[in-house]
Amino acid sequence: MKSIRNLHIIFGDQLDHQSAVFDGFEPDQDAVWMAEVDYEAKHVWSHKQRIAIFLAAMRHFRDALREKGYEVLYTELDSNKDTEKFSSRLTKDLKACRAEKVIVVRPGEWRVLQGLKKVCNEAGIELELREDTHFYTTPEDFEAHASGRKALRMEFFYREQRKRFNVLMEDGKPAGGDWNFDKENRGSFGKSGPEAPNTGPGHRNDATTEAVLQLVEKRFGDHPGSLESFAWPVTRDEALRDLKKFIAERLPVFGHYQDAMWTDEPWLYHSLLSSSLNLKLLNPREVVEAAEQAYRDGDAPIAAVEGFIRQILGWREYVRGIYWMHMPEYIDRNAMGAEEPLPDFYWTGDTDLECLKQSIGQTLEQGYAHHIQRLMVTGLYALLLGVDPKQVHEWYLAVYVDAVEWVELPNVLGMSQYGDGGLMASKPYIATGSYINKMSNYCKQCPKNPKKRTGEDACPFTTLYWDYLMRHEDTLRGNNRMSLQVRNLDRLDDKERSAIAEAAQQLRQ
Ligand SMILES: Cc1cc2nc3c(=O)[nH]c(=O)nc-3n(C[C@H](O)[C@H](O)[C@H](O)COP(=O)(O)OP(=O)(O)OC[C@H]3O[C@@H](n4cnc5c(N)ncnc54)[C@H](O)[C@@H]3O)c2cc1C
Ligand code: SF4
Repeated sequence: MKSIRNLHIIFGDQLDHQSAVFDGFEPDQDAVWMAEVDYEAKHVWSHKQRIAIFLAAMRHFRDALREKGYEVLYTELDSNKDTEKFSSRLTKDLKACRAEKVIVVRPGEWRVLQGLKKVCNEAGIELELREDTHFYTTPEDFEAHASGRKALRMEFFYREQRKRFNVLMEDGKPAGGDWNFDKENRGSFGKSGPEAPNTGPGHRNDATTEAVLQLVEKRFGDHPGSLESFAWPVTRDEALRDLKKFIAERLPVFGHYQDAMWTDEPWLYHSLLSSSLNLKLLNPREVVEAAEQAYRDGDAPIAAVEGFIRQILGWREYVRGIYWMHMPEYIDRNAMGAEEPLPDFYWTGDTDLECLKQSIGQTLEQGYAHHIQRLMVTGLYALLLGVDPKQVHEWYLAVYVDAVEWVELPNVLGMSQYGDGGLMASKPYIATGSYINKMSNYCKQCPKNPKKRTGEDACPFTTLYWDYLMRHEDTLRGNNRMSLQVRNLDRLDDKERSAIAEAAQQLRQ
């Protein structure tokens, strides 16, 4: 191996041709380093499609860099029998290439950043850490926003970013006369269900991707999920095509049906852009600009466009801020003392509860579920049952093609499980089966009755909702936003309370 001045490290979720890692790159003296390693697929028991999307996108990115004339030191997994972690692979390569400096953009996981610092420290090599210009905001921006505030709320952060980046603003005021159109974005489908919904990612796999799919089946055959339907975008061109299609075909109705669910319709009107954004095949600015342009051109209503932009300029940036501000202790938080194990059916989909069967089934088939399925079906059930948030986090990090810890962890541990005690959300997202019944047709095909909290056909969500209120009564009484729920709890007599507690205990067993 020739000796190298700077080694520019690119991880699997940093496939951005505009990345700050390339600043100052001199092709005749510097090289790019990328590696496929077992450990990243195994430290949480990753879904086959999650492993495949990362590897296929990395290989396409490597090939594109080589075409541009960059030297890329790349380790393929099938030739890498002795290396489990990126740190041991990098240690060996650093010794061989005798680089003077390692350059990297902030990784997507705290663990990886620490590993990198350790490797460079032990090798006595300077590490230059650069901020990730893919995002609108930096962790420092978020700390400045958080400083001096008693409580953090996404809404205030989001409004700041709208003003700062002049997104959906007119004469210094929010476009459409309001910051938030959430009330218009809670529609459910009528009896006939969604009209002409999305048919899914639908990309054709080329030879590079096919080779990856074979490798994943061979090496990770016992991992969850199936590769059969794999059709995710793994290049920038594919991701751009998806963006264009979404803006033209689905954005106008995205907002209204954002929270709705329907049997055997995994995609509905969602954008399916999260994996491309998180791999950095797409830049959030181009996505936000395309949506805003559709509004300006009169092709999409403000409620849909605002609802979509809020997810990217608001939530996506906000959760990243929370992650970097509170790691590493954040991952161990368990404010509600939840200690139950994650039910086995999360890994198999083997349950007769229709909403869970649908949400988990499509997750295992496609590596995808949309936001409300994640929050108000799989997340809600784990929350109400009292599952250890770390186990819930490990499941979500393993099973989705868009899962990277900086975005997954605050969504799971904070928003969905209330494990951070209110840092992300002002109250736990809890509901009975009636919410699922309102937003979907799942209950119509379920042996349980969403209205019933006890009895043979009681809906477990409804039983566990009341049990959750009883178990955490003292804590929840102190939260103003829970006063309605707690007042309803006060209406239950002792007999009803003990029947609920007993039914909940049986569900746990
Ligand atoms: C328990 C739980 C776990 C989640 N885990 C992940 C994860 O691992 N990776 C991930 O990218 N998102 C995660 N989300 C957020 C959200 O569910 C997904 O981004 C979304 O479902 C992806 O599908 P889509 O691209 O079709 O999104 P759309 O519904 O079309 O939304 C558009 C985009 O907005 C962004 N977005 C939407 N909601 C959020 C959010 N809450 N936080 C951050 N960005 C958001 C995504 O980039 C998404 O592509 C999670 C949410 C919950 C409740
Ligand atoms: S009845 Fe309950 S368990 Fe069955 S689909 Fe409805 S919410 Fe889910």
